[in-house]
Amino acid sequence: MSIEPHGDEREILEGERVRIEHELSDLGLGESGSLSYDPNFADTSQVTAERGEAEVLASELKGTLTEVEDALIRLEDGTYGRCIKCQKEIGSERLAALPMTPLCITCSSLD
Ligand SMILES: [Zn+2]
Repeated sequence: MSIEPHGDEREILEGERVRIEHELSDLGLGESGSLSYDPNFADTSQVTAERGEAEVLASELKGTLTEVEDALIRLEDGTYGRCIKCQKEIGSERLAALPMTPLCITCSSLD
């Protein structure tokens, strides 16, 4: 076999990173990392609610992006696929569902 052992994971994680970055830019995140809105737009409660939702979504996406980047670092280290808490192997089914997860199912349920 000429494929490197973690080729697929890297491809999946890099695909996730690109997807999340696109979602963040769709939300209107500027260079500053904050959401930009038209200042002339009336600040109704509807707008406030929408902005709140976008900010929650953006912070979730940023959290996931950090996990994806950390997973890519672990891939380089050769520690990818092991739980960062208990060092046990993370099940392949869990990794297939959540390729960026740093925790095994046991540790993740303890959180
Ligand atoms: Zn664990």
